[in-house]
Amino acid sequence: MKEIILIKNGELALKGLNRNTFEDILIKNMKKRLCDLGKFEYTKSQSTIMVDPIDDNIDLDDAVERLSKVFGIAALSRACVCEKDFNIIKTTAEEYLQEQLEDASTFKVEAKRSDKKFPMKSPEICREMGGYLLSKFHNLKVDVHNPDIIVTIEVREKYAFVRGNNIKGAGGMPTGTSGRAGILISGGIDSPVAAYMMAKRGIELCAIHFASPPYTSELAEIKVMDLLKKVAKYSGVITTYVVEFTKIQEAIRDLCPEEYFTIIMRRIMMMISEKIAKTQNCSALITGESVGQVASQTMLALACTDCAVHMPVFRPCIGMDKEEIIAVSRKIDTFETSIQPYEDCCTVFTPKHPKTKPHLDDVIRAESNIKNLDTLMDDAINNAKKVIIR
Ligand code: ATP
Ligand code: MG
Repeated sequence: MKEIILIKNGELALKGLNRNTFEDILIKNMKKRLCDLGKFEYTKSQSTIMVDPIDDNIDLDDAVERLSKVFGIAALSRACVCEKDFNIIKTTAEEYLQEQLEDASTFKVEAKRSDKKFPMKSPEICREMGGYLLSKFHNLKVDVHNPDIIVTIEVREKYAFVRGNNIKGAGGMPTGTSGRAGILISGGIDSPVAAYMMAKRGIELCAIHFASPPYTSELAEIKVMDLLKKVAKYSGVITTYVVEFTKIQEAIRDLCPEEYFTIIMRRIMMMISEKIAKTQNCSALITGESVGQVASQTMLALACTDCAVHMPVFRPCIGMDKEEIIAVSRKIDTFETSIQPYEDCCTVFTPKHPKTKPHLDDVIRAESNIKNLDTLMDDAINNAKKVIIR
């Protein structure tokens, strides 16, 4: 039996004249995600994109699994392609959906007929198909309101498609339709969630991670790369920079008042990230901060961090509580990795009593104790390690 994948795009339908451009970007993203599985043909038709496997033996389960994580897709389904002969359509539905129909108690048939020359009208197709399936599967009853399975028959120009229930897509906007932003990624729970949430709005990600060897270990860095790989299943490729932060952290420890350690460190992270993000054509930064979570995340502290950069800073977790953030991290499968216990540079040299209500003037004065900060930052940027995560 010949199978294809049908893609329904979500918000795209709302985009009026831009729709074509958006669809083209979506198709480009799907191609990238499936390219190593074999050759596929992509066809736009009404509000559907058809993904047709050309090579033999393509793993369609894997293709559907990958596409279910591509942003911009509201729903997808596998469909069987058959000749436009109602007897063939009937037996195709019986065979193709056999397992699902056996497992269901209730069903409903829907028909779409874009080929108006087809001799049966949609209500007749539904009626005949419903009667046929009832005669073949004695476990089934019709329920038009809340069926376990909806059998959909589409009669198109060349062929008919038979399919069962839709699979929910990842939603959101196709990656790349909203520009690029730099995510400050740690090994924690929040920043991978923040990355996912902004990627869902169509933003292409570039990532910046700060490591402080020997205070932080190589395993901590590997953990961050593992997290980014999980996010990349949704966002597509993430160009990542690993910045060695040790000298800067030591300078903060040696030269600044302890109560300002964290806030100064966060400001410097933002400044370095902004410089790297600019080279990557990014127009915003993203962090996993949430008001009140820790001392560096009070409103006043966040204001001091914001003032270190000119780019807008997106914090999609800002109003979420930890349970809500964890629910998303479980959904995107980053949680188990995030809770592995490795040091983050944020937990190196943490002050006993961090300032929770810092004043910008005081922070800037404390920060200016590091006379060679520009040189230290430039060195860190020049020596950053670039990794492409896919
Ligand atoms: P997370 O769970 O994302 O680590 P957190 O609650 O532990 O967040 P902090 O450690 O204060 O909070 O970090 C706040 C934000 O700063 C993170 O969400 C992330 O965006 C950024 N950040 C923290 N550590 C690093 C790091 N080592 N490299 C890059 N960004 C970092
Ligand atoms: Mg953290």
